Amino acid sequence: MGEFDLIGENFANVGAQRSDVLLGVGDDAALVLPPAGQEMVIAVDTLVEGQHFPPGFDAKDIGWRSLAVNLSDCAAMGAQPLYATLALTIPEHQEEWLADFAEGFASLAKIHGVSLIGGDTTRGPLTITVQIIGVVPRNQAMRRSQAKPGDLIYVTGWPGDAAAGLALLQGRLEGQGAMRSTLEDKFKRPEPRVAFGQRLRQVSQCCIDVSDGLVQDLGHICTQSQVGATLRFKELPMSRSLHALASAEQSLQWVLGGGDDYELLFTIDPKQAAEFARVRSFNGAPACHCIGEITAKAGVRLMDGKREMPLPQGWDPFRVG
Ligand code: ADP
Ligand code: MG
Repeated sequence: MGEFDLIGENFANVGAQRSDVLLGVGDDAALVLPPAGQEMVIAVDTLVEGQHFPPGFDAKDIGWRSLAVNLSDCAAMGAQPLYATLALTIPEHQEEWLADFAEGFASLAKIHGVSLIGGDTTRGPLTITVQIIGVVPRNQAMRRSQAKPGDLIYVTGWPGDAAAGLALLQGRLEGQGAMRSTLEDKFKRPEPRVAFGQRLRQVSQCCIDVSDGLVQDLGHICTQSQVGATLRFKELPMSRSLHALASAEQSLQWVLGGGDDYELLFTIDPKQAAEFARVRSFNGAPACHCIGEITAKAGVRLMDGKREMPLPQGWDPFRVG
């Protein structure tokens, strides 16, 4: 199969069929007619084999994951994702791999109404770059810079599970049965909080998605908002699977610094408590855990009652060792 057949076969008509896509895959560029009067939200993320997923990772899961990490960025802005582009570098012609990759990508794209409108395909070490384009009403996007002292800090879901899932996949953690598959699925098929993010922007001004570890990502909020944060050890969520399979010390490290969670970390002004209660109660809303509060004093602290505990480092792709 030639390159053009390969593109047509696998990447034409992937994801949702949107009437605002005037011209999709096949021409020099795509043409879209986004909703009038909204701000465009644009993000891009690259996944490299061996760095962001283990070698031999299932192609369907790579397809899902490469879109999921971008949808999560959209969710953190409170935006609605619309279109994606895909730059794919693959070692050689592997028709089965491509079909599987496209299937995984398409299944998540359809769930969120996203259309794949273009891309590029090249030969080289397996690397996937996805760009997402979405919209948000004017001045309503959540930003990292908007946390205020006294705001409550919330996180969705069960951070740490994805790091444990990766450890299971790589043989660094032991476990069987339903708990093992629950954790592995959290790494293989993260579920970006897209619908929740769009509701959340009505009551929160400040949000980030947890990709590099809870503490590190909270640190980004603090730096950009010029505030600090206190986390309460006793309020940190920990899933039953994580608690059961990993040691207490290891689980805490993963909850705080694991990365790959794609949960939302956000702040709520206590005055918005009633509105937030409404937002978090819709059918399908993720669990929301209040884990601490924003302080005027800089830095992130973890407190067990009155005692301060040491914090782990987050995931940094350029960190040595
Ligand atoms: P050009 O040389 O003009 O960049 P290409 O041969 O790279 O054209 O691509 C032809 C068409 O296929 C374009 O519309 C491009 O957006 C699309 N395309 C190429 N690779 C991909 C891909 N991996 N996913 C989606 N669309 C792709
Ligand atoms: Mg090209």
